[in-house]
Order: sequence, then structure tokens, then C-alpha cells
Amino acid sequence: MTISKTHPTTIKNCKCLVIGVGVSGLVTAKELLEVGIEEVTILEKNESLGGVWQTHAWASATLTSSKWITEFGSFPMPDDYPDFPTPEQMMDYLQVFAQRFDLEKRIHLGITVEAIQRNNTGGYDVITDRGIYQGYTFVVVCSGLHGKPSIPAIPGLEGFQETVIHGQSYQKPDLFRDKRVLCIGLGESAVGISSEISSVAAQTSLSGSSFASISPG
Ligand SMILES: Cc1cc2nc3c(=O)[nH]c(=O)nc-3n(C[C@H](O)[C@H](O)[C@H](O)COP(=O)(O)OP(=O)(O)OC[C@H]3O[C@@H](n4cnc5c(N)ncnc54)[C@H](O)[C@@H]3O)c2cc1C
Repeated sequence: MTISKTHPTTIKNCKCLVIGVGVSGLVTAKELLEVGIEEVTILEKNESLGGVWQTHAWASATLTSSKWITEFGSFPMPDDYPDFPTPEQMMDYLQVFAQRFDLEKRIHLGITVEAIQRNNTGGYDVITDRGIYQGYTFVVVCSGLHGKPSIPAIPGLEGFQETVIHGQSYQKPDLFRDKRVLCIGLGESAVGISSEISSVAAQTSLSGSSFASISPG
């Protein structure tokens, strides 16, 4: 189905459901409301909005993108935020964004979407662990890219006797004090985490198949 701003009745009658209330879900819901869609429902499996900023950040993390690059064009970050805000500041910013654009009443927390199916009127029914949400014109999937940690199948890893963690579980470097540590991966999280670990470890090495995304920690 195609919707157009020149057909407000059609837009008004649309029912949209957004899955996930991280950055993408929030801005998607705001934009849908701004084109005139009145019924927008947002489902989130966690008990809070924010996505990765609520669940994936380690204790000393900051954004790696500056506040000017990260903020929504329609909603600047507060002037007193540092150049690279903390996850807590990002969460506060997103919470205020939800209030400012009247999204809170549309967000249903603690509900996991399990399936989406076509119904006999050409729309979609959304099956969740709390029941069925029926009759949606559109479903927008904003469920993120970082939900499940991915550990590559490395021969010998299962029998390795020392500590192996995924970056998603990392909080503080204490566990690695005086150890020899190998950090696998060269993305932004790897650089930030390994830099912090190197302040307490006996030796820290980085391993990656590409240098494409390496950046200062
Ligand atoms: C450690 C870390 C640091 C990062 N740093 C930066 C940075 O500095 N700058 C930057 O621009 N980007 C950064 N990113 C990238 C970041 O992922 C994106 O910027 C953005 O926050 C992703 O938002 P999202 O809404 O797409 O996904 P997410 O934040 O992952 O949100 C998806 C939401 O969908 C929910 N969901 C998933 N499945 C279901 C389901 N079946 N039912 C209901 N709800 C569901 C999840 O619970 C989650 O709340 C970082 C990512 C990580 C992991």
C-alpha cells in the first residue's frame, strides 16, 4: 500500500505498529505521527526504552560519535552535555524525546513480538507473548542489530581454560588485572574496551581481519 501526504484520509486511517523502542523505533514513531497517522503502537520487549543504550554499555562507556552527529536534527542534545555523552545521558535524552513528541502513551513495554501474519483483510496481525495486536496496515521492524552476542566458531575456544567473555557482558576491567588478554574484533567497542583493559592487564593484544573500522579508544 502506498500512502501520500495528499490523501490525508488514507493516512489517518492507517494503523502502524513499530517493533522496538531504541533510537530507530522512537524516531520512526515520531515521523509516522508527523505524516498524519493517528494510530501508532510501539512494542518493546524490555522494561525501558533506549535499546542498546540501556542494555549494552559498559560502566565507563561514552558515545563514540559526537553529540552533534548523534542528535536528531529536530531535537538537539542539551547544551550542557559533553561532546561525547554517556549512555545515561543518551537514555535521558531519548526519554525526553519520547515525552516531547508524545510517544510515551503509545509505548507498550515488556512485550515480545513473536510473529507477524497477514490477516484476511490484507493487513497484519502481530503475535506477542501477551496476546495478538490485530489489524495493522504497516509493521515497522526496529529491532536492532546487536541483540544477540556473536562469538565466532574458533577451534579450541571451547576447551580454553581461562575467561572468555563477549563485549556485551563487559562492565569493568578488574577481571583482567595482570592477565594477558586477547581482544578479538576491531570495531569501536573493541577499541574502547581493550584500551581500558590495557590499563590493568599485563599485556593486551588486538586481533581483527580488517582495519576498516578501527578508531581511537
Ligand atoms: C556498545 C555500543 C556502542 C555504540 N555506540 C554508538 C555511538 O557512539 N554512536 C552511534 O551512532 N551508534 C552507536 N552504536 C550503534 C547503536 O546500535 C545505534 O546507534 C542505535 O542506538 C541502534 O538503535 P536501534 O533502535 O536500531 O536498535 P536497538 O538500540 O538495538 O533497539 C532495538 C530495540 O528493539 C527491541 N526488540 C528486539 N526484538 C524485539 C521483539 N521481538 N519484540 C519487541 N522488542 C524487540 C530491543 O529490546 C531493543 O530495545 C553503538 C552500539 C553499541 C552496541
